[in-house]
Amino acid sequence: MIHFLIVGNGLAANVLAHTFKNYDITFTLVGNSNLSNCSNAAAGIWNPIVFKRMTKSWLANELIDYLIPFYETIEKNFTQKIITHRPILKSFFEEQEKKLWLKKTENELTSFLDKTIYTKVPEAFKKAKLNTEFGIVKKCGTLDVPAFILETEKIFKLNFINQTFNYSDLSIKAEYISYKNVNYKNIIFCEGYLLKDNPHFNWLKLNPAKGETITIKSNQLNIENAILNKNGFIFNTQPNTFKVGATYEWSNLSQTTTQKANNELQQKLTHLIDADYQIIQHQAGIRPSSIDRRPILGSHPYYKNLHIFNGLGTKGVMLAPYFANNFVNFYLQKQDLNIEVDVKRFYHLYKNAN
Ligand SMILES: Cc1cc2nc3c(=O)[nH]c(=O)nc-3n(C[C@H](O)[C@H](O)[C@H](O)COP(=O)(O)OP(=O)(O)OC[C@H]3O[C@@H](n4cnc5c(N)ncnc54)[C@H](O)[C@@H]3O)c2cc1C
Repeated sequence: MIHFLIVGNGLAANVLAHTFKNYDITFTLVGNSNLSNCSNAAAGIWNPIVFKRMTKSWLANELIDYLIPFYETIEKNFTQKIITHRPILKSFFEEQEKKLWLKKTENELTSFLDKTIYTKVPEAFKKAKLNTEFGIVKKCGTLDVPAFILETEKIFKLNFINQTFNYSDLSIKAEYISYKNVNYKNIIFCEGYLLKDNPHFNWLKLNPAKGETITIKSNQLNIENAILNKNGFIFNTQPNTFKVGATYEWSNLSQTTTQKANNELQQKLTHLIDADYQIIQHQAGIRPSSIDRRPILGSHPYYKNLHIFNGLGTKGVMLAPYFANNFVNFYLQKQDLNIEVDVKRFYHLYKNAN
């Protein structure tokens, strides 16, 4: 019997597919990538620093040490590049900000922050606006998330079913589950913010955040393999093509792009570049953020062969590989899940709902 039916076709489901493959866990994936646009809209940045507080992002060392070999090994079997290492160039607005930065380079952020305060824009950068002083964050980069999903689908085409999962076709038995007359030992749900439509896990409440990005073309601009950050970000994706982001919105949760976000992103651009440009793409998606901003992983409180991998929020690229591995160790070795991500922390909501 196949070990897992994976539901979803975003970053979570695809990272899980590779992880299962690495451990020889058999799987079928049923997903329709048109239902949630989140992974397609993602900028794909991984960044170890929370700039607002100038602190290390949760588990940054462990997550980054895990994600780099994970995506790089996978990339070797792909026909296109998916992962790019690039520093983040962070402009300083105030003297205080610079002082804090320098202090942090001496202690908790020493492995992530370059000790130099830069004053000269690199020669390779044309028409990029950096403040007279800026710092550099190391060990950052971008994953081309749509390309990762596309290539994964090609590699695992025999395991993929491009379909909307119909919850009423699922029947749950004591030792296995059955979907459209095929039996699987387990099922794992990775539907992003559409978790709300899952009758088995909709007692879990997310705090989804809509986000929008634009892609621009400019012949005047050059930013070679770096991410500029100044209350927004810009980085190069193709020759003369750049991704700009991102917005956050918690009240209007439709997946359509808005003029308001377009204006906001263009406003961000006025601080980032000094070049003529043309917008060639505008995307929106809903980030599946959890209430406590930690992933949600593990088994259903009542049906032991139903599982979940969700809550990747704003940092799916960093979180997904490490926690997919955590899930596999939990499944195969009966190792405990990291207590902060274990769905058990929400079991009281299930009890209250039933
Ligand atoms: C504008 C924006 C910018 C972002 N930038 C970054 C960034 O720079 N770095 C970063 O790490 N993260 C970023 N993110 C967040 C990142 O995109 C998410 O963490 C991640 O993509 C979530 O992946 P997921 O697979 O959990 O969810 P989703 O991407 O929502 O995937 C869920 C999948 O399941 C499918 N599905 C749902 N229900 C069903 C069903 N019934 N049947 C079949 N299929 C179904 C959906 O169609 C979709 O394919 C960004 C997000 C947005 C919106």
